[in-house]
Amino acid sequence: MTDILNYINGELLPAQSNDWLDNYEPATGEVYSRIADSDAADVELAVQAARAAFPAWKRTSVDERARLLSAIADKLEHWNEALAEAESMDNGKPVWLARTVDIPRAAHNFRFFAHAITQWPSESHAMPDVAINYTLRDPIGVVGCISPWNLPLYLFSWKIAPALAAGNCVVAKPSEVTPMTAFLLANICREVGLPAGVLNIVHGLGSKCGNAIVSHPQIKAISFTGGTKTGEHIARIAAPVFKKLSLELGGKNPTVVFADCDLDQTVNEVMRTAFSNQGQICLCGSRIYVERSIYDKFRDALTAKVKALKVGDPMDAGNQQGAIVSKLHFDKVLSYIELAKQEGGRLLTGGHTVKPEGRCQNGWFIAPTLFENLAPDCRTNQEEIFGPVATITPFDSEDEVVGYANGTAYGLAASVWTTDLKRAHRVAAALESGIVWVNCWLLRDLRTPFGGVKQSGVGREGGVEALRFFTEAKNVCIKL
Ligand code: NDP
Repeated sequence: MTDILNYINGELLPAQSNDWLDNYEPATGEVYSRIADSDAADVELAVQAARAAFPAWKRTSVDERARLLSAIADKLEHWNEALAEAESMDNGKPVWLARTVDIPRAAHNFRFFAHAITQWPSESHAMPDVAINYTLRDPIGVVGCISPWNLPLYLFSWKIAPALAAGNCVVAKPSEVTPMTAFLLANICREVGLPAGVLNIVHGLGSKCGNAIVSHPQIKAISFTGGTKTGEHIARIAAPVFKKLSLELGGKNPTVVFADCDLDQTVNEVMRTAFSNQGQICLCGSRIYVERSIYDKFRDALTAKVKALKVGDPMDAGNQQGAIVSKLHFDKVLSYIELAKQEGGRLLTGGHTVKPEGRCQNGWFIAPTLFENLAPDCRTNQEEIFGPVATITPFDSEDEVVGYANGTAYGLAASVWTTDLKRAHRVAAALESGIVWVNCWLLRDLRTPFGGVKQSGVGREGGVEALRFFTEAKNVCIKL
């Protein structure tokens, strides 16, 4: 049984209380490791280590910071297979998905920000014959990074890499539900010689350890990805002390399919959009709107594809769908399936648990589920389920579907499927969403701004947006 330890001041440590939390393998429903159950005392230790490391890290040359981040990326690539297996075991996601998406993209995050920081220009604004202004961008100091369980290492590194590249020291907490790859990252940081205290990883419950990070007066900024309710709670703590905040929150993303789409390709892609990672990606499109003239054909083709998805042991490369991340979340997703039925939803496929034979018979598996006949304003179509449950609904006009798409409290991502270029531009402009994909989904260029509008968040990550967030701008004005 592995002990998942904190990484504080370069050392691997249990919680000072010596308390532990069980860590489950979702595919078996069994405890397979234990996690340091950290509290405010451990966070304090991490903050003091980060504060002590900050002056030297801030002065470390950009080239050296970039070298260390690249070395971490190299190690992540080198250990891709082992990390993918660890991620799959901890999260329940298919190992092939972790191998091809989660771990390579985590490595890419470190490599991208290693390069980005060496290429980040400072601004200068000349006032001819009067003055010249230039902008200094200093690291903030000690910053907090808190990430969720759905893409554990991928989203953890998406925050840590820009924070470190910009010269900050970090106190980070992965989700207590999926802590394993953050622990393995700590080992990699020790191997590459990241100076002690520059990155500190504290494990434990959000309500205890996470809350202590958010409330700590010497942590000057919080980058958080997680649920909207948790984001609201964090904002309440941070606002009165003017802490800088980046909040990447929930979504209820629309997928808009017009009759002129490439039907075969779109059916395949829409299935991926709805059910990748068991629907547990904040960018998944769980509300599928299809133009009425192709509705029946599209629905039948999609239903057949979804029905054919193989659910089972995430370690088996033949399975397309793995387990739901936790018992708590499994129960929540099942409760939404019941709600959809009560709201009059017609079940097209799925709607039940799956019991694979063998080692996974007690795991938390749900068949990918598709409903039709649900009104756009019902709870099933308004609330984030964050699981393998999607709805499909016909529409008659562009205005109508834009209304449906925009008709939730969220605004993270949307996808539009059409071969009409003018329509693609028009609809993309009309959607209230931080990201719009046209004829694609999850295609990512790390230079682009990433984030949501409305209750999907505040601020943007990615490229220079992240570097701006993790620095304070100072204008220097020199009179000529
Ligand atoms: P939570 O909001 O429950 O948790 C996110 C993180 O915050 C976890 O590390 C959690 O710790 C921690 N946390 C919980 N309570 C507190 C607190 N009071 N103070 C500080 N930290 C706290 O989200 P989930 O982990 O359930 O993730 C799913 C959610 O994340 C979905 O809503 C999804 O849409 C959203 N998400 C958004 C993305 C985006 O980019 N917009 C990307 C991915 C997911 P612990 O787990 O230990 O409780």
